[in-house]
Amino acid sequence: MKFVAFETRVGVGIALEHEGEHLGLSPGHDHYPGPIENLLSEGRSALRRAAATLRRHGQPVDLADAPLLPPLVPRRIICVGLNYRDHAEETGLPLPEVPTVFSRWPSSIVGSGQPMIAPKLSSQLDYEGELAAVIGRPGRHIARTNALEHVAGYACFNDGSVRDYQLRTAQWTLGKNFDRSGALGPALVASEALPEGASGLAIRTRVNGQLVQSSSTDQLIFDVAALVSALSQAFCLQPGDVIATGTPAGVGMARQPPGWLAAGDVCEVEIEGVGTLRNPVRNES
Ligand code: MN
Repeated sequence: MKFVAFETRVGVGIALEHEGEHLGLSPGHDHYPGPIENLLSEGRSALRRAAATLRRHGQPVDLADAPLLPPLVPRRIICVGLNYRDHAEETGLPLPEVPTVFSRWPSSIVGSGQPMIAPKLSSQLDYEGELAAVIGRPGRHIARTNALEHVAGYACFNDGSVRDYQLRTAQWTLGKNFDRSGALGPALVASEALPEGASGLAIRTRVNGQLVQSSSTDQLIFDVAALVSALSQAFCLQPGDVIATGTPAGVGMARQPPGWLAAGDVCEVEIEGVGTLRNPVRNES
């Protein structure tokens, strides 16, 4: 099951990818199942019911006419830094013994196809291709052994980073939260459609078609189950929480010369079985 959210004149539509097309319903339709973040709060069976409804009542949606949004409005975006061995090495920082956690707010992300915005005040917008895990069941002090029961699905994430702002202080928050500097999508893929913990999936980032990051999710230092367990030690994870699991080697900052994103570029994050998140880059107006 792959769900997308799209803009309509009457609000946020929801569609299911089905046999090569998208079957969608908009608000106001009798069978509209509601936005994905609401379905997540209603438990995993709600996603299955929505999929059945969309297969039965959904209308084919031309996504060229209906811009994609992030598949859900995240409740929180919880990001993990330095979580691939090769990326930790390229930054020159020691391998972490516990996850490095920071946060982004929903205003910092766009959906697939929407422009990521290069800010006026910096020339150092960088990509970070990542796997995002979406929480579907609440929990606190979750054991690693049943952590994956709390994950409803997965998506691609671009943890777009304004490096000079990120690194001029010890806290990365400002450089990770420029408006529309990152992306989530194109779809929410239900967990059952992927290997346990979305492990062993190829993850690649391309800029203007050139491969800049290429790794596998089995290279995560802290895997999805470990992250769910570790985060839940501190706070109750909630449906709609998005965990961005970190990026592999090959970020623009680590290249010689650095490879910053600029207006006119197109950045793609592709994860095997999850999809391709594709964003043009535009200058802040
Ligand atoms: Mn990141």
